[in-house]
Amino acid sequence: MTDRSGPITLVAGGAGFIGSHLCQALLDRGATVICLDNLQTSRPVNLRRLERYAEFSFVEADIVNPLPLDILEKTSRIDRIYNLACAASPPQYQADPEHTMLTNVVGTDHLLRLAERAGARFLLSSTSEVYGDPEAHPQREDYRGWVNCTGPRACYDEGKRAAEAMAFDFARMGRAEVRVARIFNTYGPQMHPDDGRVVSNLICQALSGKNITIYGDGTQTRSFCYVSDLVAGLIALMESDPERNEPVNLGNPVEITVNDLLGHVLAMTGTDAKVVYKPLPIDDPRRRRPDISRAEAQLDWRPRVSLEVGLAATCAWFAEELVGGRDCTPEPETLRASVV
Ligand code: UDP
Repeated sequence: MTDRSGPITLVAGGAGFIGSHLCQALLDRGATVICLDNLQTSRPVNLRRLERYAEFSFVEADIVNPLPLDILEKTSRIDRIYNLACAASPPQYQADPEHTMLTNVVGTDHLLRLAERAGARFLLSSTSEVYGDPEAHPQREDYRGWVNCTGPRACYDEGKRAAEAMAFDFARMGRAEVRVARIFNTYGPQMHPDDGRVVSNLICQALSGKNITIYGDGTQTRSFCYVSDLVAGLIALMESDPERNEPVNLGNPVEITVNDLLGHVLAMTGTDAKVVYKPLPIDDPRRRRPDISRAEAQLDWRPRVSLEVGLAATCAWFAEELVGGRDCTPEPETLRASVV
């Protein structure tokens, strides 16, 4: 790190899919960034791109544990904390549900206390999962959700709901300035091929000729946001000065069925892989689409990358990744032309 006196942005979970894109965007804006990550679900190769920046450093630690000295000794310089630390793919966060819950509750508490001591602004990456299997459609921030607190998704859904509750309590009590982003399905280059989510699964299966797995009958819907759009929203939210402490949905409101997504992937890859239908996971939400009017009004933010362009970039990246592991993330300029 060359600048030893200026402000520091801490990104917990910065080696993960969204976190690594966020770190890069912050570094490109001239920030000094410390990435804190336990490398549980992240790709260490994501760090290699970031380590080219002199203003980047990495600390391996799990936010469930007391924060390491490497971080604490820089408390007075930390002025922004992004908390993206948590496994986010259903098979990954369900593999160790206790750890998922503790990451969201104990880990968020550790970071909020750091924000309090540092006088730093804190952004929580929350999730559309706080709406559960929603009865209201599209989902507005004032919808309180329909979550099964005893099901296999609860460790993540209820963990994030508890993290939101804690963040807003810190804000109400004047202990920290907080922002809460409710992130909807996000995709793009640098996803882990074994992540387990639908975009990476379908593309990797199609490219490698393995059976393509569709859960349920494929009529369930999701709304997929390209990662550069999401990152722009996170930074805009962090830097905004909202009048009230409220969560903000960040996602792409273009809703499609999983079968429609399959159609795009089949057309783009030209695969002859077989499609197999498997049982729908328990509590799998039937419909999901963000109402983004709050983000549009407060942040002047909306997604810009269409599904066709974003999926093509993601397919191209996975094609390179599966063949040789070469990092070929498209530069943002190549995507800017495409408006939803
Ligand atoms: N899904 C699928 N095939 C897969 C992985 C997921 O059909 O290989 C379905 C999943 O059941 C869900 C949707 O795709 O209905 C999105 O799943 P994902 O795990 O990407 O994210 P979620 O929105 O459920 O957290």
